[in-house]
Amino acid sequence: MIRLDQYEIWFLTGSQHLYGKETLEQVAQHSQKIVATLSDCASIPTKIIFKPVLTTPEEITQIVRASNNDDRCVGVIAWMHTFSPAKNWIAGLSALQKPLAHLHTQFNQDIPWSEIDMDFMNLNQAAHGDREFGFMATRMRLQRKVVVGHWQDQEVQARLGAWIRVACAWADAQGMRVVRFGDNMRSVAVTEGDKVEAQLRLGYQVYGYGLGDLVEHIQAVSEGDLRQLLELYQAQYLVADDLQTGGEHHDSVREAARIELGLRSFLVNGNFKAFTTTFENLHGLVQLPGIAAQRLMADGYGFGAEGDWRTSALLRTMKVMASGLAGGTSFMEDYTYHLKPTGMKVLGSHMLEICPSIADSQPKLEVHPLGIGGKADPVRLVFDAPTGNAINASIIDMGNRLRMVVNDVDVVVADEPMPKLPVARVMWIPQPSLKVGAAAWIYAGGAHHTVFSQALTAEHMMDYAEIAQIELLHITQDTTLHQFKNELRWNEMFYLLGRGY
Ligand code: MN
Repeated sequence: MIRLDQYEIWFLTGSQHLYGKETLEQVAQHSQKIVATLSDCASIPTKIIFKPVLTTPEEITQIVRASNNDDRCVGVIAWMHTFSPAKNWIAGLSALQKPLAHLHTQFNQDIPWSEIDMDFMNLNQAAHGDREFGFMATRMRLQRKVVVGHWQDQEVQARLGAWIRVACAWADAQGMRVVRFGDNMRSVAVTEGDKVEAQLRLGYQVYGYGLGDLVEHIQAVSEGDLRQLLELYQAQYLVADDLQTGGEHHDSVREAARIELGLRSFLVNGNFKAFTTTFENLHGLVQLPGIAAQRLMADGYGFGAEGDWRTSALLRTMKVMASGLAGGTSFMEDYTYHLKPTGMKVLGSHMLEICPSIADSQPKLEVHPLGIGGKADPVRLVFDAPTGNAINASIIDMGNRLRMVVNDVDVVVADEPMPKLPVARVMWIPQPSLKVGAAAWIYAGGAHHTVFSQALTAEHMMDYAEIAQIELLHITQDTTLHQFKNELRWNEMFYLLGRGY
C-alpha cells in the first residue's frame, strides 16, 4: 500500500559562469555520477533526479518553482561543487516549499597528494562553496538537514536515506484524510487539541463520522468475503480452539472479521489513511475493533485509540518513513510497570490494538472479555515483540505549539512468561533508565499513547520535526534531568520570543 518509489528527490548543483564552459561540464558530469550512485544505493528508497547545473538566480528560481509544482518531487538536495555566490539563491530559497537537504560533499574523496595543482583546487571547492550556501540558508533561518562526508560513504548515504524517507512521509501527510469515529474519550486531555493547527502545521485533515456510517459498511459485508477472510485468519494465525468453526466463540471471530471488512471498505471508499475509534462510542458495533485495527495498522493505516487522531496520523507518517525497513511500527501505550529496583521496566500494550508488524512469531488469535465499554468480548491477536533498539514518539499540543517527545528504549525479554495476559505486549527499558526517562517524559508532558518503532531511529523524528518546524525533545542515554529541565525552560522562551515555529 505504501510505495516510496513513486517519489523523486531533485539534486541541485550550484555553480557560476566564472569557471568557464569546460569546468561547468566537468561539474555536471561529476554531479550526474553522484546522482547515479545515490539513486542506486540500497539505503535510498526513491529516485534521485539530476537537474542541470545552476549558475544564475533565474535558473535557481525556475527549478525551485518547478519542484514546488511537481507532486512526485518530495524534496531537494543542494550541493555546491564549486563556488556559487549565495545572493543568487535568495529568491529561489525564498520560494522553496519542499524539504531541503544540504549535502556537503566533494567529488574527489582524497587529496591527490603528489599531483594536486590549481586545477584540482578550482574544481573541488565545496569546502568553501557549501559554506557560502550554508550562510545564506542560516541567514534566512531555513530548516534543513546538513549531511557531511563523501558521497560513497555508506553512513552519508544512510543519513540522506533517512531524510528522504521522512520527506516521503511529509508528502504523504499533505492532504492526508484521517477519520475519527465518534469523538474523544470523555474527559481525557492529552488526546484533545487543535485540529486546525494540526492541518496548518502538519498537512492532514481530521474528519468526524458517526458510528452509523461505519455500521452501514459492516452490514453490507458479503458472506463470501467473510468466509475468505476467516480462511486467511486460519492460514496466518494460531486460532484458539473456541474460535474454530463449531467452537463456543466462533460467532465472535465472524463478527470481528465482519468489522474488519466494513472498516476497510469505509477507509478505502473515503480515501482515508488513518482512523480512530473509542470504546465509549461503539453504537451499532457488537465489539470494539481489535484484530481489525491490528491488521489495518499492519497494512500501513494509522490508528489511534480513544479518539487520538494525532497519534493515529503520526503512526501513518511513521509507517511511511519505515516502509520496506526491517522491524515493525505500532500504536503503543505505556501500560504497566515492573518497579523492582534492580530491574525496572515498562510493559507496553493496549486494550487490543497493537500492530502485528512488531510480532516476533506467529500471532495467536484469541477472544477474551474487555471489562470496559459494555460490549461483546473482542477478538485480538496476541504476541510478543523481538528484543533490540526502539523508539517511542509522542506528539502533544502545548497550546502555542506542537511538541514531539522521543525516547530511545531497549526492548528486553520479560522476566517471566505472562500466560494469562490476553494482549500483545512489549517489555522495554527507557534510556537512560526508567527513573530518569519517565521523569523526563513526564516533565515534557509526553502522552501515554505513543508510536513505537523498531524500524526507525530518533534521526528520522528529528528530520521530521525540522521539516514540520515543530519542537522536538529527545530523551537519550545521555539525558540528565537537570539539563533536560533547562532545555524545557529555554525552549519555552524560544517559542515565546520567536515565531513560535
Ligand atoms: Mn489508550
